[in-house]
Amino acid sequence: MKPANIGDRLDQVATPSLLIDLDAFERNLDRMASLVPANGKVRLRPHVKTHKCVEVAQAQIARGAVGVCAQTVAEAEAMVAGGIRDVLLTNQIADASRAARFAALAAHATVASCADDPRHVALLEEAAAAAGTTPGMLVEIDVGQHRCGVEPGAQAVALAQTIARSKHLRFRGLQAYHGSAQHLRDPDARRTAIAASADATNATLAALRNAGLEAEIVGGAGTGTFELEQQAGPWTELQAGSYVFMDADYGRNNAPPQFENVLFVLATCSSVARAGHAVIDAGLKAIAFDSGMPVIVTPKGAVYAGPSDEHGTLDLNGALLTIGARVRMIPGHCDPTVSLHDWLVAVRGDRVEALWQVRARGPAL
Ligand code: PLP
Ligand code: MN
Repeated sequence: MKPANIGDRLDQVATPSLLIDLDAFERNLDRMASLVPANGKVRLRPHVKTHKCVEVAQAQIARGAVGVCAQTVAEAEAMVAGGIRDVLLTNQIADASRAARFAALAAHATVASCADDPRHVALLEEAAAAAGTTPGMLVEIDVGQHRCGVEPGAQAVALAQTIARSKHLRFRGLQAYHGSAQHLRDPDARRTAIAASADATNATLAALRNAGLEAEIVGGAGTGTFELEQQAGPWTELQAGSYVFMDADYGRNNAPPQFENVLFVLATCSSVARAGHAVIDAGLKAIAFDSGMPVIVTPKGAVYAGPSDEHGTLDLNGALLTIGARVRMIPGHCDPTVSLHDWLVAVRGDRVEALWQVRARGPAL
């Protein structure tokens, strides 16, 4: 069910639902376009894992992004179906069926995925040969997060050579993303982390050049550090995602990213039976709690004390709430919160201007 119709007033929007403040959204897009201009040496390739939404991706591309990043093959499929012509899967494909789907996408768009093992190369090569396409591949190096990625240097060169030798693949460059640096609270700690990532990336690029290989793309960065990667030298593409919506956890960084909160959870008060408390209709199934409680914007002063499946308990701290009244919150973590919802309700002032579908939701295949 759609939570609203275009033209509805805010008080007609069904809850729990997700609101996009269109004025603030457009300011975030413009701000990023001025920080990372389309004609710069380093370009923006925003991550769609935040919004999973074709309309948002199109708005990013219209402001100068080179293309988008996706984290799942289903997200990549949704973006290509929505007309996006350049998608980088910042992830490894580890099974033949996903490799076949991804290789098929290369007939319609410029696509690339990441490898940190010869098995990833072999899977995509076989799928591309069967599909008659030539997808790209990047070698992912571990630049400090210790999630995926080969060791910088010789290991990365060996894998790049394996890709370059594959008849149906194109070696495109390096994926060098330091995820755990994004939410380091201290700006100096973020700076130190990205400086080390830059050293590892530069050393790998030099080793690639010695082997006669050129990295056309060096991708990495998120909302917490993209200005550091932009300045550092080796990176050519910045993969920030959350900047477009922001969330409460990014707001807790010291020197937080200079973007506005665009994404709000709208809920309805369902019970005030207990003095000093209220219950709302948004709990674990409407909000992600991995990065802490949502921050309540209205009513001012109320605090989200804890969730259960379909309920949220608030400490009112003197704020007033009556049954049926609306509560507006900033979620702790934007990406997994969006993935819980079918629709983004885009509002300007008090009016619903658009409904945008969230694609490839949940644990996307
Ligand atoms: N790039 C990669 C590979 C990621 O996994 C992520 C997020 O987890 C991002 C970029 C975007 O990060 P953020 O949403 O913090 O800007
Ligand atoms: Mn995130």
